[in-house]
Amino acid sequence: MRIVFATGNANKVREIKAILADLNMEVLSMKEAGVYAEAEENGATFAENAVIKAKDIATKVSDVIVMADDSGLVVDALNGEPGIYSARYLGEDTSYSIKNANIIERLEGIPVEGRSARFVCAIAAVLPDGRVLSTEGTIEGYIGYEERGNGGFGYDPIFMVPEYGCSTAELSAEAKNAISHRGKALNAMKILLQDALEK
Ligand code: IMP
Repeated sequence: MRIVFATGNANKVREIKAILADLNMEVLSMKEAGVYAEAEENGATFAENAVIKAKDIATKVSDVIVMADDSGLVVDALNGEPGIYSARYLGEDTSYSIKNANIIERLEGIPVEGRSARFVCAIAAVLPDGRVLSTEGTIEGYIGYEERGNGGFGYDPIFMVPEYGCSTAELSAEAKNAISHRGKALNAMKILLQDALEK
């Protein structure tokens, strides 16, 4: 059984392939599978958007498991922004150094206790018989005062993990995957999937 992962984000593909490696299934990106997403991500939650993406791609392929993720950064002091709009925040093509600087600026003067934030990741899978599975994972942290580290992608340089005293951009890929929202949601999905495939 092959898995087509519905994302065009090369950074996510790398993390996802590493986390799903022990399933012993071939994991293809949309590009590798030659399919393209068309559905508008107009859900109200991460979970709804993940299902929209997975169902869209499932109409274009057969005999494979389609998985999709929808993820983002939720900052409590900004009423949950950028949330489901994380990729589109300040414009899809705006650099993350600008997006990250903007978030730090909006939190100016707020002490660490008021800077709580989390990354959220919802994963949806559509099986060849049409069954839909969903999982969600989160990692709690706070928004730092400056960008730190060169690893990861997106908002990683400003997302501080209290237990490690560093940002997710300062963690190795393995360390990030072991504690991240995406790692947790995908590990939960692996269990659901193995169970569903036995039925
Ligand atoms: P999506 O492709 O609509 O799920 O966009 C998710 C967006 O949330 C990404 O483009 C990033 O801006 C942000 N994001 C999600 N996961 C991470 C992460 O692990 N690190 C940093 N930013 C992330």
